[in-house]
Amino acid sequence: MPLVASCQCGIIRLPLPLDQPTELYICHCTHCQAQSAAAFGISACFPTFAIPPPGSPPATAANLGSWVRTTASGEIQECWFCTVCGTRLVHAPKGAEFLVVKGGSIRVIDDEHDDTGNDGKKLDIKSVWDTGMHIWCRSAVVSIPDTAERWEKDDGTSKKL
Ligand SMILES: [Zn+2]
Ligand SMILES: [Zn+2]
Repeated sequence: MPLVASCQCGIIRLPLPLDQPTELYICHCTHCQAQSAAAFGISACFPTFAIPPPGSPPATAANLGSWVRTTASGEIQECWFCTVCGTRLVHAPKGAEFLVVKGGSIRVIDDEHDDTGNDGKKLDIKSVWDTGMHIWCRSAVVSIPDTAERWEKDDGTSKKL
């Protein structure tokens, strides 16, 4: 089923290139905590696509803001957000072959749900929480299930907990 990333106010709608992310994980790093003003971030990776994607409504292009930050490892990260409601939707290392879509913004477009509002079904984050990958667990502020895959820092480059 086709997916769209949309912001809290609903002006921004980014059609996503695949029906499922290539990777989906929960990030407990302090930057995700600061960015989301919550306990963790949800990262859904997709092959890179134009921002805004072809087929986006005109209001999307008109209200999409961006900024650039330098990560702790010196990487340049581009970030896109809604200039009306402030919701972050996407970020990516500059020049990367993937984009990271904020998982909580993703909705399923199907025949039963109006895809213009905030009522669409969301991605199944619960199964990722229980059995998927959690990274930067050393700064987690919530309990992580024993059934999940847990990494001290980034996956593959740190200690598996
Ligand atoms: Zn918005
Ligand atoms: Zn993070």
